[in-house]
Amino acid sequence: MYDYDLLVVGSANADLVIGVERRPAAGETVLGGDLAVHPGGKGANQAVAAARLGARTALLARVGDDAYGRLLLDSQRAAGVDTVGMLVGGAPTGVALITVDPSGDNSIVVSPGANGRLTPVDVRAAGCLFHTSRVVSAQLEIPLETVEEVVRQLPPEARFVLNPSPPRPLPTAVLAACDPLIVNEHEAKVILGEAAVSITSDDPEDWVRLLLAKGPRSVVVTLGAEGALVASSKEVARIPSVPVTAVDTTGAGDSFTAALAWKLGTGASLTEAAAYAARVGAAAVTRRGAQESFPTAEEVESLCC
Ligand code: ATP
Repeated sequence: MYDYDLLVVGSANADLVIGVERRPAAGETVLGGDLAVHPGGKGANQAVAAARLGARTALLARVGDDAYGRLLLDSQRAAGVDTVGMLVGGAPTGVALITVDPSGDNSIVVSPGANGRLTPVDVRAAGCLFHTSRVVSAQLEIPLETVEEVVRQLPPEARFVLNPSPPRPLPTAVLAACDPLIVNEHEAKVILGEAAVSITSDDPEDWVRLLLAKGPRSVVVTLGAEGALVASSKEVARIPSVPVTAVDTTGAGDSFTAALAWKLGTGASLTEAAAYAARVGAAAVTRRGAQESFPTAEEVESLCC
């Protein structure tokens, strides 16, 4: 019997957003609009997305002993995420300072703060969470050695889903545990490294096999409004997107990953889980923001097509 459908191991940030007429040049000060503070970070986003769909979800993350840390704890609890694995202290809460101009272009400075202090020791101390979760997901806004320890802590029956964002080359043991590795095109090229030089086609079907050859048990490539591609040793399949009017794509990848990870734990095939995740990603882009845009299971059902 599992306590959790999904254990997310990852980052939790406060996103501090200011709208500006023009983003400042070096040495320049500009006046902006009112500050908006949103809970964010890929780990926190994935946990909220899964919980909103009805998944029993826990988050293993680290925040500072400060107001932003409390905001993140509160927003996880409000979404129904179990925060027993949220550690407090060691550094200020991670923060993303975001300026957005009227055309939607932004400049972002991230201070990883407490996310950078989520250590392999923290992962080992949370061992019971791993043994009571069907699926474990992670991203790369925490130290890579922490993700390596996550892989070492996985019980044999647990499934591991990794979205390597922000991307960097991955150790063989991490790649071998991924089922699936979920990447967009940019992330795929970083993971492929020198092998990416041999890509001459824009069609991901032509290069997804190069990713599989790196060792993951399966791969999902997210393609924005074009949907997704799933690949394993058995098949390569296109997952069409659901046609919607997109107003803000922030968090689409996080909601897609969370939905796919959760569905896999319910026994769905990779293709079935990706088709459901595509509906969740589509629903998320119809609303502004990240966590506030994530749909409930009922909203996913009512999405046309
Ligand atoms: P992020 O920038 O959030 O990290 P990503 O690049 O990892 O995102 P996307 O490919 O943008 O991920 O989106 C994830 C999934 O959400 C897509 O595979 C698709 O199924 C769905 N999706 C994204 N944008 C749209 C859209 N405009 N219309 C329909 N579905 C979409």
